[in-house]
Amino acid sequence: MPDAVVIGAGPNGLVAANVLADAGWDVLVLEAQDVPGGAVRSDRGVHPDFVSDTCSAFYPLGVASPTMQALELERYGLRWRHAPAVLAHPLSDGRCAVLERDPHRTAAGLDALSPGDGDAWLRLYGQWQLLSDDLLRALFTPFPPVRSGLALAAKLRTAGGLRLMRFLTLPVRRLGEEEFTGEGGRLLFAGSALHTDLFPDSPGSAAFGWILTMLGQQFGWPAPAGGAGELTKALVRRLEERGGKVQCSTPVTSVIVREGRALGVRTADGEAVRALRGVFADVPATSLYGGLVGWEHLPARLRDDMRRFQWDAPAFKVDWALSGPIPWTSQEASRAGTVHVADSVNSMTEYNSQIVTGQVPDDPFLLLGQMTTTDDTRSPAGTESAWAYTHVPHRTTGDRGPDGITGVWDERDEQAMADRVEAIVERRAPGFRRRILERRILSPRTLEQHNASLVGGSINGGTSNIHQQLVFRPVPGTGRPETPVRGLYLASSSVHPGGGVHGACGSNAARAALRADGALRRHLLHPVLSAAQRMLAQPRN
Ligand SMILES: Cc1cc2nc3c(=O)[nH]c(=O)nc-3n(C[C@H](O)[C@H](O)[C@H](O)COP(=O)(O)OP(=O)(O)OC[C@H]3O[C@@H](n4cnc5c(N)ncnc54)[C@H](O)[C@@H]3O)c2cc1C
Repeated sequence: MPDAVVIGAGPNGLVAANVLADAGWDVLVLEAQDVPGGAVRSDRGVHPDFVSDTCSAFYPLGVASPTMQALELERYGLRWRHAPAVLAHPLSDGRCAVLERDPHRTAAGLDALSPGDGDAWLRLYGQWQLLSDDLLRALFTPFPPVRSGLALAAKLRTAGGLRLMRFLTLPVRRLGEEEFTGEGGRLLFAGSALHTDLFPDSPGSAAFGWILTMLGQQFGWPAPAGGAGELTKALVRRLEERGGKVQCSTPVTSVIVREGRALGVRTADGEAVRALRGVFADVPATSLYGGLVGWEHLPARLRDDMRRFQWDAPAFKVDWALSGPIPWTSQEASRAGTVHVADSVNSMTEYNSQIVTGQVPDDPFLLLGQMTTTDDTRSPAGTESAWAYTHVPHRTTGDRGPDGITGVWDERDEQAMADRVEAIVERRAPGFRRRILERRILSPRTLEQHNASLVGGSINGGTSNIHQQLVFRPVPGTGRPETPVRGLYLASSSVHPGGGVHGACGSNAARAALRADGALRRHLLHPVLSAAQRMLAQPRN
């Protein structure tokens, strides 16, 4: 009987398994799909000569996360690759804002777009450098982050105290207006905030924009050599070296609960798998509460809270095998791993408001990845393995474009939306379409088929809005991975600190269990230890 059963071999499940195995626990990971990795996988499904990442592709959070750093995955075969430039945002007049690896080059580029914006960039980066160690530690450790939080509070005072706190609560549009005079800096920040489901006008979106751009400036936005799946392989190798096992094609259908304690899980073929010390659920909160664990084992309050749980907007993604690089009009975009495509901050707001009102956007904001530019092992020399994704509504009430997309994501919807995405790239890169050898469409429907945790195509385990962050994630409480069932931990991106491949949700769950287990053992051993102490303390004749 294993000490721990982990449900789901996504990055959080695999990190939890590794942390437990490091502590000597015998760990079994049960994965529904026939391969591990969740949203961290790659394949040759688009074209046999091209490696394509099926979901996530760039891992600034992975390289910056103290949790992932501690796993030393480079010792298990992981190699990071960087594009010549981190991020580009072509402007509508043909110029381009570029986040370079070197901060002074980024600043020089922004200055050329609008004098003075280079200094603004360097000032914001200076603030980041002062805070980043403590901020990342506070972000990626269990809530409340007492030690790192105190260190961060002390640094915040030096870095501007209340003014900096105000800065972090700003909508990213406002941040751009306050700090930059031109579009370049504003677009780099706003586009990065839109990696979540936030608007340029959402309170706190400045914090997301700042963190992601500044991570890019400090660490780059790297990708694993050979494909996203190499990150998963390194996690699995490390786990197996410590005796842990990953069993694929094994969906878990319920958690076995007796007298308020998780005893193990039941799989789809009816097998009961017992766990001696803990069950770790790398599944969305909505799949765990009222799904794998029946409401009869949970407080009524939780059911009401879960009714209010909000998903992030689903993704619609297209993967391409291209016969050559994307022929951007703004040539600087060719050097970047990631390219953001939107005319202006206003058009991003328009796009977001269409999504929240149920409309499929007519001119959606695109995040586009140039993977061979980043890692030349992805496809033959002179070609490009690329992808782009955007967001669409959860419940579609209409299409703002001319195609009558209904949101059921059948073949017709999928082809029409993929054509729309391609037309947007073609506008900035005439000749792009002629370079498409093959394309693969991942709509909200197919994303969920590929990974049941991408519910309705959502990618971040729930909204990133402030009302579902920190102590409000996934429901108002402590922001911690413990659940109302003893020995059961929520280890997915539905819990603090949320979406992205940083492993902190999994590691926090594992650490909570190790702490509880240590406390229990001390409690059980207490009478024995006290008796031994008393015996030792007795005077000898
Ligand atoms: C299209 C897309 C692009 C993204 N881009 C990036 C990016 O570039 N960088 C980044 O940092 N993040 C990115 N993300 C987000 C990131 O991938 C996720 O936040 C992260 O993978 C969450 O990890 P997880 O372990 O919580 O869940 P997942 O990765 O979703 O893994 C959950 C696993 O649990 C399994 N599972 C679910 N239910 C069961 C069950 N009942 N029994 C057994 N197994 C089960 C699933 O099959 C899956 O393997 C992206 C996500 C998507 C979808």
